[in-house]
Amino acid sequence: MRAKLIAGNWKMHLTLAGATALVEEFLGSYRPKPDVDVVVCPGFVALSKVRSLIKDTPLKLGGQDVFWEEEGAFTGKVSPAMLADVGADYCIVGHSEARGRFGGGQVDPNLLPFFVETHESLHQKIEALLYRAITPILCIGETLAERDAGRADAVVEQQIRGTLQGLEPSALFGVVLAYEPVWAIGTGKVCEAEEAGRMCGIVRETLRDLSDDDVATTARILYGGSLKPDNAYAVFQQPDVDGGLVGGASLNAASFAQIVHAA
Ligand code: PEP
Repeated sequence: MRAKLIAGNWKMHLTLAGATALVEEFLGSYRPKPDVDVVVCPGFVALSKVRSLIKDTPLKLGGQDVFWEEEGAFTGKVSPAMLADVGADYCIVGHSEARGRFGGGQVDPNLLPFFVETHESLHQKIEALLYRAITPILCIGETLAERDAGRADAVVEQQIRGTLQGLEPSALFGVVLAYEPVWAIGTGKVCEAEEAGRMCGIVRETLRDLSDDDVATTARILYGGSLKPDNAYAVFQQPDVDGGLVGGASLNAASFAQIVHAA
């Protein structure tokens, strides 16, 4: 059986003081379970602080993005070696907000060219993370326009194939994918539980086709998009959903604890 995984994506929120308060409050109510892994993904500058706060707990640490080079003249970038050094176990890759795909349309369209990811850049990031034994959490998902055009399944399949093809099954073993419909991220619109389950099933079958049975059976596939304490349980009941990637609700210790409990 696959252990569930709940990852909190803090996005560009929280100072060191805020991060400390959130972790301390969460740890006050968190009751670890052997079959539920919990990861927190703070902003880069809080990684070290959070690492020290969770060091005697089962909580795991994740980055929100990475650059693929190990070191060099890449101003502003963070390498897999740096993430490994700070003790990151996981790293989000290809989040829709990093791809410039926003469900709520909160970014000036003129700024969208500043958010660029390609299949190649994501592939390089994943390879570089695997080299450092950091588990990538690859995000995929369709926009509302793509869903309305009946292209949701094809878009998700294409994102997975475009990014992961060429990676050996041995490299992909243990990889995490997060199905996050762009229109549900930060918008309060939740994907129906059955539909989330169906899409996660497509993710798993695509992975099976691209690699092998072992990789597909053991891969953890998360749902993300406006998960809250009151909708998480139904989503986690779906056979192909192995947990959640949680944005907004992970910034509230009580809500995050309830979502973990639902898993
Ligand atoms: C996310 O950031 O991956 C996410 C799912 O955000 P939210 O839960 O706020 O929709």
